[in-house]
Formats: sequence, C-alpha cells, structure tokens
Amino acid sequence: MTPVRNRSMKSVQIVEYRQPFQYGDRNVPKLQPHEVLIEVKASGLCSTDIHLLEGRVDLGQLPRIPGHEIAGEIVDIGSEIVTWQTGQRITVAIDVSCGECVHCLTGQTQRCPFKQRIGFERDGGHAGYVAVPATNLVLLPDSVTYEEASILPDAVACMYHCLVAQGQLRVNQTVVILGVGGLGIHGVQIARLAGAEVIATSRRAHRLEAAKEFGAIPVNPVAEDLAKVVDDFTRGVGADVVADCIGTTTSIQEGLSLLRPGGRLLVIAYIDEMFQIPSIPLFSTEKEIIGCRGSTRQELVEVVDLVAQGKIRSIIGAEYSLSQIHQAVSCLEAGDVMGRIVLTR
Ligand SMILES: [Zn+2]
Ligand SMILES: [Zn+2]
Repeated sequence: MTPVRNRSMKSVQIVEYRQPFQYGDRNVPKLQPHEVLIEVKASGLCSTDIHLLEGRVDLGQLPRIPGHEIAGEIVDIGSEIVTWQTGQRITVAIDVSCGECVHCLTGQTQRCPFKQRIGFERDGGHAGYVAVPATNLVLLPDSVTYEEASILPDAVACMYHCLVAQGQLRVNQTVVILGVGGLGIHGVQIARLAGAEVIATSRRAHRLEAAKEFGAIPVNPVAEDLAKVVDDFTRGVGADVVADCIGTTTSIQEGLSLLRPGGRLLVIAYIDEMFQIPSIPLFSTEKEIIGCRGSTRQELVEVVDLVAQGKIRSIIGAEYSLSQIHQAVSCLEAGDVMGRIVLTR
C-alpha cells in the first residue's frame, strides 16, 4: 500500500483573494517530527473563511487551504511524537503558539503574539488531510461525533472563553447576547449552564426560536424595545454582561447602554474597523469593554468534556460534502441556517 504521505488529496483552496474557493487536488502535507497527520472527517465552515477569501487577513503565500475547525483521526505520526498514536479520534486547537512567551508559559496561548493559526497562516482542514503539531490535539470521547467535534474549537470554545473567562459570568447574573447565531446559540447554552439568565437578540425568527429552546428570552429588536426588556428584567439595574456578536459601532453603543454600572461588554465580532463610544457615560459608570479572542487549550478540553457529558449541544445547521463547497458558501451567506455548517467527507 502507498504510504498516505505520498498521495494526493482533495482540498478547498484560496488561490487568489476575491475569487471563489477552488476545489481540487493537492499533495498530502509532509510531516515535521513534532507533527501528526490527521485524516479530516469533518471541518466547520466559518464566516471567517469568507473574510479570508476577501483578503481581510494576510495569509502569507497563496494558495492556502482554509479550515480552522477540524475533527478527524490520526493516521501518521512524526518521529518525535511520544504520547499520540494512529487511530485516535481528535479535534484540533486552532492556535499554533510559540510555547516560549509569557502568555504561553502562563496558559494564555490565545494571546501569543507569535502564534500561527491553522487554516490561516498555516494550511487548515478543508482537505483530506492536515498536518498539525501534536500539542494542538485534544482527544475525543467516542460519544462525540466528528461532525459535533469539528465546530468545538471555534464556535463553542470561543464563546466559553468569552463568557466564562473574560465575562466572569456568575450564577443568577443577566447576560444579553446581541446577534444570536452560530456562536451565540452555544453562548446561550454556556450561560444557562453557568446559572445565568440570558436575553438573546436577532432579527430572524428561526434564530430567536432556537435561542428560546435553550432557555433564553428572545428579543427581535425591530419589533420590541430591547432597552425596555432589559430594564424590566433587571428591575432597572441593567445587564451584568453583554456579549456583542455583531461588531459594529451601533451594537457596541447599544451594548454599553444595556449594562449596569461596572458591567462588562464582551467584544467578539469586528465588522466595523473602528468603534466610536461616548466617553462620559463610560467613564462615569466604570463599565468595561473587553476583547475576546479564541480560547486556551484547557478551555477546549473543558468544552469537549461538556459536550461529551451532554451539557452543551453542538448545533449543526447544515452538512455538505467538501466538494459542495460552493453550495455551502451560498448557504452560509444566505444566513438561513441556525448553527454551524459542517463539511463532511
Ligand atoms: Zn472561525
Ligand atoms: Zn507564545
């Protein structure tokens, strides 16, 4: 049998910015001594993949294989691998961090200034195979399917990091999730699990329906006065935490206005390049504006465990095969599905 590393594989590539993804053949990646080769079984399609295609991030030399949400099986291991074996089912943390800087050494790998991200500056998982450092692997329990697992490193672990670590969400606090979508629906579940009350907004009925199903108070801000809902619910105090999944000046301003004094605005989206905020209300109320990016390795381990225990459900909106990438992109852009789009093999 031909060793897998000498074969070619199907892949989705960014060949040129502002052109459609190309589906075609690439060589199976070569392994470095500290890497493992993963046969990808499922990869999550993220709206960031579309941003990459638009050239909003410098990916280095093209072509690049995107795909930062990966689940699969180890099929080959590098010469220096000690603890991992072929046949193991895994998911993959996105950041390949330096391991030397103060952030890495204190477990805050998401802040490593020297990181390279799988599916961004390095080739990712929208392919038959991907090579990743063994330090990025998280073992999957049998009860978690590849499809469920693929979206955990981003859509779920990000929200977990955001609400639990950055937001310090506590029992009986009130959190408003602005723009409940693929991330936010997992945020609703995490916040409920943490014992918080959740108000979730969207202009789309099916998203509000899903948020309600997981225990949130759904609000369509076009039809209802969100400020009044928050005011009534918190008896005039304001929300403890607002998670902004929209990322515009309007959403940031609205988020700040919904907070109680000293409350925390969690910024997880970046549509506008600049946010403008009123200075005196911020100063006089000691509200905090906190950036939230990615997750630590340990947070991904915790999220996998919570999904395995059935405490968080991984929400998949649609599945397409890798070769149906263009249909999958259209589906993502239409915004009609609730939950993540997963590319199967
Ligand atoms: Zn993503
Ligand atoms: Zn580092």
